[in-house]
Amino acid sequence: MGVSPINTVTMTIKTIATALISIVELPYAYDALEPYISAETLHFHHDKHYAGYVAKLNELIDGTRYATLPLEDIVLTSDGAIFNNAAQAWNHVFYFEQFSPTPHHHPSDGLRRAIDAEFGSLEVLKERMTTHATTLFGSGWVWLAADRDGRLFIISKPNAGTPLTDDLMPLIAIDVWEHAYYLDYRNMRKNSVEDFWKILDWRVIDERYNRI
Ligand code: MN
Repeated sequence: MGVSPINTVTMTIKTIATALISIVELPYAYDALEPYISAETLHFHHDKHYAGYVAKLNELIDGTRYATLPLEDIVLTSDGAIFNNAAQAWNHVFYFEQFSPTPHHHPSDGLRRAIDAEFGSLEVLKERMTTHATTLFGSGWVWLAADRDGRLFIISKPNAGTPLTDDLMPLIAIDVWEHAYYLDYRNMRKNSVEDFWKILDWRVIDERYNRI
């Protein structure tokens, strides 16, 4: 018995509908950010925590109206467990992509002017974000974000929180969940944030800012 054309079409549609959200690989080797973020931390952080959020999200959205949406649209239109897993999936891709083993340590002119206007200097911005990261109680994220006019804001968000839901464009994400630093820094969250700046690639942040 042959496969009828109708069955072939049905199978194709089903394959597309179940593709859902896929894992984004790291843009560098697991040991590329040592000694500031170890290969062990990145294996757990990317392959277990981040991949776990994606797997859980796909389980939750399978067969729902979210199943065919891009990840960012799921973040913007969901709540509860679907929001938590979608936002964590989005936040982690954004987080991993901002690092480089050969980073640029300073923003270019346009972003630097915005930083100077809002905070006075790059050093003050780093100090303030570090303070936010060390004083955020429990798990969450500290963000640098911009509004549509390019004005900058430092925002602390608990759990899976993201500036996307405030209609702001994220620029920098500091993950202050313990899984982001505990293997390398134990309870020394502040040290992990001080080292964060050594691998943050301002070329990536410039590109994000220039897209506003
Ligand atoms: Mn994390």
